[in-house]
Amino acid sequence: MGRVIAIANQKGGVGKTTTAINLAASLAVLEKKVLLIDADPQGNATTGLKIEAPDQQQLSLPDNDVPAIPTLYDCLVNDLEPQEAILKHPRINNLDIIPSNIDLVGADVDMLTMSDRELIMRKAVDKVKDNYAYVLIDCCPSLGILTVNALTASDSVLIPVQCEYFAMDGLGKLINTILLIRENLQPNLEYEGFLLTMYDGRNNLSLEVYQLVKDNFQEMVFKTVISRNVRLSEAPSHGLAAIEYDASSKGAQNYLNLAKEIIDKENALAADANKQAEGETK
Ligand code: ADP
Ligand code: MG
Repeated sequence: MGRVIAIANQKGGVGKTTTAINLAASLAVLEKKVLLIDADPQGNATTGLKIEAPDQQQLSLPDNDVPAIPTLYDCLVNDLEPQEAILKHPRINNLDIIPSNIDLVGADVDMLTMSDRELIMRKAVDKVKDNYAYVLIDCCPSLGILTVNALTASDSVLIPVQCEYFAMDGLGKLINTILLIRENLQPNLEYEGFLLTMYDGRNNLSLEVYQLVKDNFQEMVFKTVISRNVRLSEAPSHGLAAIEYDASSKGAQNYLNLAKEIIDKENALAADANKQAEGETK
């Protein structure tokens, strides 16, 4: 059963897309099958991995309606089967992507008039998630209908927090949104964790932010911290994940460690559940 993780924070520039791309690539390198869904109209996860248009003849849309690249927008609004929007990463085995582009800007308005409009992404994700170990959704910098859809489609939410002065601003609003989604749409939505990004150990502010986030969210904070690392910001301009661009870089290694932490946590939870089930049958 695929675990669906939304990567969300309504603040822009905190490392959502960098995390989505590099966590997806790291999980894939660790031999987990991964689907990365780009749910941001800016399409940074798509361009950051240099995703190309596939053979258009394979699409099931009417001829006059064939988009240049099948995207998440078509799955949400044009009833395109999600399987038909999935592209294989050209180099990384085990990594598939549903791309997005600026068309997705229109989804907010188009979805307003659709029935069960908070559940549209969930219906699409449910059709494909069991083909994967992990489905990662790169959210846009807002708490609008697209992010509500992404959270409702997810088992958990991973929240990148940038190590900077206003790091905690807005987290209350995000946590409130998660509570509302639990109450009304997805009662089982969990915290995958809070992830400190752009950490600089030489900088007192980074240490203070780390402590503040830890004081507030305790064991929900990932042990792995993502350092500020220039390779992470260079890699997408070459259309590469950091692990392809410079596997030995601190950034690539940080995301590999994050992937291992997530896999280990899931394995430990599964082992606990098994033990409990065994105990109950005795
Ligand atoms: P978001 O998706 O939340 O808007 P991004 O992942 O696009 O944020 O990151 C914002 C900017 O910061 C990008 O230019 C990205 O390359 C850079 N960046 C993100 N994480 C790091 C990091 N750990 N070290 C250095 N630069 C980073
Ligand atoms: Mg982004």
